[in-house]
This record gives sequence, C-alpha cells and structure tokens, in this order.
Amino acid sequence: MRLVTFARDGVMRLGALRTRAGRQTVVDLNQAEPRLPADMLGFLEVGDAARQLAESVVAHAQADMDLGDVVLKAPVPRPGKIICIGLNYRDHAEETGQAIPEYPTVFSKYSTATIGPFEPIVLPRVSQKVDYEGELGVVIGRRGRYIPESHALEHVAGYLAFHDVSARDFQMRTSQWTIGKTFDTFAPMGPALVTADEIPDPHSLSIRVTVSGEVVQSSNTRNLIFSVPQLIAYLSQVMTLEPGDVIATGTPGGVGVARKPPRFLKPGDEVRIEIEQVGALVNPVVAESE
Ligand code: ZN
Repeated sequence: MRLVTFARDGVMRLGALRTRAGRQTVVDLNQAEPRLPADMLGFLEVGDAARQLAESVVAHAQADMDLGDVVLKAPVPRPGKIICIGLNYRDHAEETGQAIPEYPTVFSKYSTATIGPFEPIVLPRVSQKVDYEGELGVVIGRRGRYIPESHALEHVAGYLAFHDVSARDFQMRTSQWTIGKTFDTFAPMGPALVTADEIPDPHSLSIRVTVSGEVVQSSNTRNLIFSVPQLIAYLSQVMTLEPGDVIATGTPGGVGVARKPPRFLKPGDEVRIEIEQVGALVNPVVAESE
C-alpha cells in the first residue's frame, strides 16, 4: 500500500494511492472507514491491524479523488525524530576522502525541516553551497529499544524517498554537521510511505538522482555499508524508536560538492530522487525571499 498525507480544502488527511482505469487516485481512508485514524502518526500507532483494515477498505472503496485534486504533503508531516546516517555508501565515503567507517555516523534534522513532494526547497540567503543527497528513508512503525537485528525489519512501517539537503558551508564549519542539515525545507520526503510488506528486501533497490534532468547520482541500496537492520539495532541501543520516526540511510556517490567543478543547487533547479519500488520525489529549488 502507498500511504500518503494530503491536504484538501486546507485540512490534512490520510490516504492511499492507487491506479484506477489508468489514473492515479487517492482514497481518503478515514472517510471510507471511520475506524481508521485520519492522520499518519495515529495510523502507525495502531500498527498491523490498521494496515490490514486499510487494505480491505482500499479494495472496496468507490469514492476516489483524482491525485490532481489534492495536495500531497510529507507522508509523516512532523516526524518525532529524523535520524540521518552519514557516509553509508562506499563510493560516497571515498569521494569525500573519508575512511570506511567502523560505526555509523549519526546526525539529525529537526521536524521543522520537513516538506513534501513538489514543495520548494528554499536556498537560505546565508548559504552559498546547498547540495543534494538522495537517500532511502525508513519509517518506524513499532516502538522499540534494544531491537535485535534479527527482528529489526518487523519495526519498519515502510519506506520513502528522502532528500538530505545539505548546506556544505555550514556543515563543514565544525565537526558536528547538524547545523548545515536542518535549515527549513531541508528534509523533503515522499511521495508516499510504501508499506514494508511491498518491499521485503530494502537492500536491492536502485536509487537515482537527477538535477534539472541531469543524472548526478546512480547507485543501489545493496551498496549500503550499514544495513537497515544494523542501523535500527545500533540506534535503538541509544534511543527508543517510535512510530513515525524517520531514518535516512545515507547517500551514494555523486554529490555536488565532490564534483569538479562543484555543482550546487541554484534557483530554478528541480531535484528528482527515484527509488525502485518506492517512487519518485520531486522538488523545485527557489531562492529565499527577503
Ligand atoms: Zn545524507
């Protein structure tokens, strides 16, 4: 199932995407079945029972809306945590001159950075080096601490495309990267949360990023240094992972700062992050107004 958060008449709702008669449509899950929560966090809290009920609702629903008649938002509009992993692809560690890490590098974005598909990435007027990073995002569905690797995927609600927008000038000022990573609009995610039952193996997905049509990153999640279960096990040694938390698993090679000459985002660019079975996240890039 492809779960979305959408706005209609200014109200945020939970929906499921489907294709009907060749058209992309959205079923409003709470409207079709009032026992289903009307928002993503509430839905994830209920867990498997909500997913199974939603599947049967979608199978029988008649009242679809055209995708064009709603505004998609970030599937999880305000994640409790956005946990990012750095240097998690071999080729990216090499291009940035870093050793293959012994432990995952972890930094954060705050929920105020979250935007959805087609919402603009705003280039802050204080940064001249804003870069793209396409990533597989993992959304937690079941709460847990000290989750063993062998059970880690049972804690995953699903996957989405994630954009770790990065202001390299701010990021590199100190050893801690968070300040360059959490500007407003620097955490685009979507377009849908694809439930984990549709992606039994998250380590065999092609990932491709284009900037204004030019392919700049092309890899596969099989090149991850730390796997999704390893990351969940490691992070949950430290913190309780909760429904709606998002883990961004790191970016492959090809980022703008490592190019010769460097290629940073500029107003008018459009970034597209496409992940096999997960979908394509597209965001325009705009300048910050005064
Ligand atoms: Zn990243």
